[in-house]
Amino acid sequence: MREKDHLCGICDRAFSDKKLLTAHMQVHNGMKPYSCSICNKGFSYYSSLSAHKKIHLKEKNKLDNEETT
Ligand SMILES: [Zn+2]
Ligand SMILES: [Zn+2]
Repeated sequence: MREKDHLCGICDRAFSDKKLLTAHMQVHNGMKPYSCSICNKGFSYYSSLSAHKKIHLKEKNKLDNEETT
């Protein structure tokens, strides 16, 4: 079973669909080598990606808190 045959030659990420790989390549073409593993948004700097990822952590915490009420 090889579901992810389309590998990015730049960051080694694998994609199940060539279209997804093509879309992903824009991250590199647009000078945004760092992409969020959760929403796939691209960033020019690692610090920007780190700051962005906190948004997802907050979302998760918010959901957890809402579940307890
Ligand atoms: Zn890549
Ligand atoms: Zn994200």
